Amino acid sequence: MKKEKTLVIIKPDGIQRGLVGEIIKRFENVGLKMVAQKMMVVDEEHIEKHYTLDPEWRRITGEKTIAGYKAKGLTPPSEDPLEITARILETLKVYMTSGPVVAMIWEGAHAVGIVRKLVGGTEPLTSDVGTIRGDYVLDSYALSDKDGRSIRNLIHASGSPEESQAEIKHWFKDEEIFDYALVSEKILYDVNLDGIME
Ligand code: GDP
Ligand code: MG
Repeated sequence: MKKEKTLVIIKPDGIQRGLVGEIIKRFENVGLKMVAQKMMVVDEEHIEKHYTLDPEWRRITGEKTIAGYKAKGLTPPSEDPLEITARILETLKVYMTSGPVVAMIWEGAHAVGIVRKLVGGTEPLTSDVGTIRGDYVLDSYALSDKDGRSIRNLIHASGSPEESQAEIKHWFKDEEIFDYALVSEKILYDVNLDGIME
């Protein structure tokens, strides 16, 4: 449990906005440990594979998007979830290959859930104040749909431990991931706290 790992990608807009340090700082602040990190420029094939590692992603995302349109009283561009996701995927490929990204693995107790909480909801317009997406960017589905582009939300983070395992394999080789101790882990996880007093 203390060794849960999650994948974080700072997307091209995060790099362009100069937010790499701010984003890393938030994960360091909470006590997580960076165990891998690299800058990359990836191709469209790599991005398509990333989003379709879960064979259900196309269906789930399409259905979620259709439901989102209907909840706002709007007509979705298609009633076919797979057609909707195909469009989202095309725009994601343009977005994610437009410049360098920073890929990272963060490790610690409940890493997946803690990182998702700090990252915030997918749409910056509605992501909570205090989250990375809520504090640093102002995009919406309405605006990105109107302009026929992907929503710019700075960052990707794995949605579950199963997703993180598959995504880590897709982005990193085993030898790029480091197993090491941080002094702060003593105070975060030590059971007896018997090493403090001289
Ligand atoms: P995340 O885990 O919060 O990034 O969201 P998802 O895994 O559900 O979706 C991955 C990416 O697909 C998001 O970051 C968005 O760029 C895009 N996406 C997801 N849902 C929608 C949607 O309803 N509409 C649009 N336009 N894009 C979406
Ligand atoms: Mg996701």
